[in-house]
Amino acid sequence: MRSIFALLFILGLFKHAFSEEGYCSAPSGLSTEAKSKPLYWKVDNPTLSPVHLIDLPGFTRSVYKTTHALISPESHVYGPLPDWSDTTGAYLISPEMGSHFLMYLAKLKDNSRSGLPLPGVERFIFVLQGTVTITNATGVSQLLQVDSYAYFPPNFEHSIESDALGTIVVFERRYSPLANHIPEPLVGSTDKHPLLETPGEEVHYNQHGLLLLEGQGIYRLGDSWYPVQAGDVIWMAPFIPQWYAALGKTRTRYLIYKDANRSPL
Ligand code: MN
Repeated sequence: MRSIFALLFILGLFKHAFSEEGYCSAPSGLSTEAKSKPLYWKVDNPTLSPVHLIDLPGFTRSVYKTTHALISPESHVYGPLPDWSDTTGAYLISPEMGSHFLMYLAKLKDNSRSGLPLPGVERFIFVLQGTVTITNATGVSQLLQVDSYAYFPPNFEHSIESDALGTIVVFERRYSPLANHIPEPLVGSTDKHPLLETPGEEVHYNQHGLLLLEGQGIYRLGDSWYPVQAGDVIWMAPFIPQWYAALGKTRTRYLIYKDANRSPL
C-alpha cells in the first residue's frame, strides 16, 4: 500500500513540473467552469447534498432486500399494462419479492380503460392525481377524485377510465374466502374518515405495501434507517422491525396495505 501512494505522489509532482516548464497543455475536455476552479475544489466544497446526488451516475435510494425494499421514484419503470388499453403502469411490489400481493401505479389518459384482475383476485385503487370514472356491470358510474378509493371484490366486473389524465395506485391479491362472508364493492374518500390514534406496532406477522403520499421522515426497516419522502414505496415482509419518524417541515401521510381478518394458517 505504501509504495502505491508514494508512486501517485511522485507522478503528481512530475505533472506539476512539466506544466511549469510549458511541456504540458491542459486537456481539451475540461469545461470553462472546471478551468476557472482549483483542480480539487470539490474536496473543499461539499456537493453531496441530495440535489447533487441526482446527477451522480448510478446513484439511487432504492434498496432491495429479502425482508424489505425501498423503491424510490427514479426506479419506477413504466410500460403497457396487460389487459388495460392505452394505459402505462409501473409495478412496484410483486410476489417475486415475497409479497402475497401486487402493487402498481397506473397512468390513465382520455382513451384509457382498465382490464380486469385475474380470476379470484380482489382489487383496491386509490386516486393520486386527476379524476377517474369507475363503472360496474350494470352501467352505474361514479367519479373518483384525488383521495378517493374503491374496492372491487374478486370476479366483480368493472372498468376504470379517465376523461383526462389520472394516476392511481392499485393493490391486487388473490382473495382468501371467509365462511359466511361475501365481500361487497366499496367506494369512499379519506376526508370522510376521522383521524385515528395509531397504536405502536414494530414487529408483527402482517406484511405491508406503503406509498408515502406527503412529507418526509426516516423509516427504520430491520437494522437500516432510510431517509424517505413523498413518492417512495416500501415493501415490508412479515416480522421485519419497522418504525417511522415524521421529520419534515410539512405533515406526512402514507397509504399502507396490511393483511388482516384472516388466520395466517
Ligand atoms: Mn406495521
